Amino acid sequence: MRFVDEFRDAELGRAVAAEILGEVEAGRHYKIMEVCGGHTHSIYKYGVDDLLPANVELVHGPGCPVCVIPMGRVDDSIAVAHHDGVIFACFGDMLRVPGSEGTLLDAKAEGADVRMVYSPLDALRIARQNPDREVVFFAIGFETTAPSTALTLKRARAEGLRNFSCLCNHVTIVPPLRALLESPDLRLDGFIGPGHVCTVVGARPFEFIPADYRKPVVISGFEPLDLLQSVHMIMRQLGLGRSDVELQYSRVVPYEWNLRALEVLAEVFELRPHFEWRGLGFISQSALRLNAAYADFDAELRYEVPGVRVADPKACQCGEVLKGVIKPWECKVFGTACTPEHAIGTCMVSPEGACAAYYNYGRFARDKEVV
Ligand code: SF4
Repeated sequence: MRFVDEFRDAELGRAVAAEILGEVEAGRHYKIMEVCGGHTHSIYKYGVDDLLPANVELVHGPGCPVCVIPMGRVDDSIAVAHHDGVIFACFGDMLRVPGSEGTLLDAKAEGADVRMVYSPLDALRIARQNPDREVVFFAIGFETTAPSTALTLKRARAEGLRNFSCLCNHVTIVPPLRALLESPDLRLDGFIGPGHVCTVVGARPFEFIPADYRKPVVISGFEPLDLLQSVHMIMRQLGLGRSDVELQYSRVVPYEWNLRALEVLAEVFELRPHFEWRGLGFISQSALRLNAAYADFDAELRYEVPGVRVADPKACQCGEVLKGVIKPWECKVFGTACTPEHAIGTCMVSPEGACAAYYNYGRFARDKEVV
């Protein structure tokens, strides 16, 4: 398939890996963070890390939107789902994310009408088909998916649908990256930038990383050759003592923003003053909520939600995984008490989560017994 097969060419992959090796400085350990969960998934699916020199380490950032949802937000969603007459619509991954007293799937088993959808428009269709019920869509994702939620809300308004609302959990990528860069326990050499998010925001918002922290950023595609080439571009910058934002994924991403997408976001959303991220705590202006013009569609205003901060289970080390401080298999419960079937933390739920990627592609410490 065009634009896919040529980016999975093993021979070319080995050639790029040899070029990366040529850029490596002996005795130096490099840590490169990929920000997007889609990158984490591709790296372990295709064994990209196996082609890298031993002293080039890939660490995984907070780029999986399911993984960063804190337990309190899951509790809020379950509380809304239990309201009389509510049909609660969400993506499949979210059904299995644990809250303090269970998951949305458990709520469904207890009688709540929770339905899996593939897009916000699916939820809107359910609202049209059930005019005597209230349909709440659990919106989740970075800037990549927020425009589709915004367009759905615009359509709901245009159709005069009053039985549709949105529990908004859209987050933005720049504030958590800044929080990570300010973190004293993490030393990073460069970033593989999030190709999907950049289709909306462009590459320019990442210029603060070289400007303020002197680290290179390469916005990358998702095929194995994209990732290898991005690592090579970062290594070349490091070798030359440069730190810039470069665009590897230029076949899809514009350097500048997607103006139409940003306009629709501005029409429907505003920044929250702060939002809790799993493992990272509260981060200022890191998430979106519906603005005053769309307040009628805001489930947080339509329903009472607990809004309580809930501490992660003691055994859960998702926060350290999301900050790239530990590898998934270093978590005490990885592959034993925590598996994709019975997840304790969020990173094991979504296929884009680092723990699920490690588990699904057999990446764990060799001496660790995995069930
Ligand atoms: S193994 Fe489970 S509990 Fe541990 S970090 Fe991963 S998802 Fe969280």
